[in-house]
Amino acid sequence: MSAATPALNVAATRIGTEALGPGLRSVLWVQGCPFRCAGCMSPEWIPDRPARRAEPAALAAELLSDPQVDGLTFSGGEPMQQAAGLAEVARLARREREVSVICFTGYRLERLRSAPPSPGVPALLAAVDVLIDGRYVAALDDGRGLRGSTNQRIHHLTRRLADCGYDFARRPRTAEIAISGPEALLVGVPPSGLLAAFDSAVDSVRARTSPGRELPHER
Ligand code: SF4
Repeated sequence: MSAATPALNVAATRIGTEALGPGLRSVLWVQGCPFRCAGCMSPEWIPDRPARRAEPAALAAELLSDPQVDGLTFSGGEPMQQAAGLAEVARLARREREVSVICFTGYRLERLRSAPPSPGVPALLAAVDVLIDGRYVAALDDGRGLRGSTNQRIHHLTRRLADCGYDFARRPRTAEIAISGPEALLVGVPPSGLLAAFDSAVDSVRARTSPGRELPHER
């Protein structure tokens, strides 16, 4: 890592999921997003506030801690706001294992190339195999695919996942709910109705916990 590569501001990680791309993947969600899409499934991760600060090397080791993991997925929040750190995570991970990399972004690819919103964007784009771009538009959510709405595009920036048989645009959605202590994490692009059911369940648990003790609600 160069001395200039910043630590990442991390909203959450998930080691080993089948809900965010082909194979068994580890997911890194960053904190902070400049967009405010109506219906965003992660509103807690929009504010640009300090969350978990972590160095790329520690994150790469964490994401590979399951030896079966064969891919990384970067989401958020807005990954391109922390592109330099994520590019370094990908680089360090690939020194240990030949993982594929999927990245979500609210920016369009053309904008990322013509006017990168942060200095590390070219390096991150060079590391990404599949980029899912564009803001979420609830009215265009067709309930299918590994993207929230049909305006979002699937860019195979390399051939690594192009012929793996995974239909990024049309496949039925799956999601996982991970419980860790008092935290509930919804992993994946949720099928229709699941997000409302998840919110309702978390609210119900919150109501039963003692006043003043908050149950963190993450997605
Ligand atoms: S770009 Fe993604 S994280 Fe940001 S507000 Fe839109 S849906 Fe939420």
